[in-house]
Amino acid sequence: MPRLLSWYGAQARDLPWRHTRDPYAIWISEIMLQQTQVATVIPYWERWMRALPTVSHLARAKPERVLKLWEGLGYYSRARNLQAAARKILNDYQGQFPTTPEAIRTLPGIGRYTTGAISSIAFNLPEPIVDGNVIRILTRLFGQRENPKTKALQNELWSLADTLVRSTKDCAALNQALMELGATVCHPRSPNCPDCPVKRSCTARKEKAIHLIPAASIRPRTEARRIEVYWITRGNRILLQQRPKGFHNAGFWELPNNETSPGIPLPPQSEPLATVRHTITKYRIQLLAYAVDKPRALKGRWCQRDELESLPITASHRKLLRQLPVSNGAAQITA
Ligand code: SF4
Repeated sequence: MPRLLSWYGAQARDLPWRHTRDPYAIWISEIMLQQTQVATVIPYWERWMRALPTVSHLARAKPERVLKLWEGLGYYSRARNLQAAARKILNDYQGQFPTTPEAIRTLPGIGRYTTGAISSIAFNLPEPIVDGNVIRILTRLFGQRENPKTKALQNELWSLADTLVRSTKDCAALNQALMELGATVCHPRSPNCPDCPVKRSCTARKEKAIHLIPAASIRPRTEARRIEVYWITRGNRILLQQRPKGFHNAGFWELPNNETSPGIPLPPQSEPLATVRHTITKYRIQLLAYAVDKPRALKGRWCQRDELESLPITASHRKLLRQLPVSNGAAQITA
């Protein structure tokens, strides 16, 4: 692996979390980077580190502030788990980030991969990492053609990653080099093999089988969902509700809708004022906003238009709100 390490030394991107060994900062970056591109994460991470620079800042922050800092990154259980873990660190470890993989693994929201990433990058421990990027590199390097989702191949990949990280004293660099190679050179569709530091050892390349490795998994079927959203206004205020516990994105504010509140009868022949589509996991969701009168029993918070910026609101409802008719800060449609 010396070639990989020297390539990383020369080519690594200058990312803000690479300037620190603070396990808290590295943990936040790793959680943000799950499911999210580096370029998107950078401003979020910088904003987060300014607002909540330590474990105890995060543990003591209002949950709504944490969600607001996360707004737009999606998969909000990550933000809630971060705060739950910070509180555990404050209670069980006097606010000091735990230093052993065993203890790190017990924190909410931290699985095997994140344990390996924090342990190796922050503490230079020989702990392996296996994620989508590493799977792609290792299956190609070693010519593994089976489906990487199978238990047997998963175990083998973890064991290979373990052998690799134990083969060097610079565990932090080795794991980051694997991440970097997967992100910048060994792309899923057209890897840049001529510039790859490990091309001479790559079985997939020798066997001209790069397009077959890693084996593609069968995608789960998508499901279409249609949600009615209620645009209810009083003067220049808009009725919002907070998503209840037990629902995806709990704690976020949104326009009332028939997913979390009982269906409200729509006026006959009403046409949607705005429509937004978005996809989350296997669901293709269409949100349709209708102007309706407020039913007596419906509870919520009446918000001025300019309050909306400071509240955590899901991306799809933020998009809807942008489309809904307002003028001079006041809603034109009134209930
Ligand atoms: Fe990936 Fe190509 Fe390098 Fe093999 S030679 S590891 S396929 S970039």
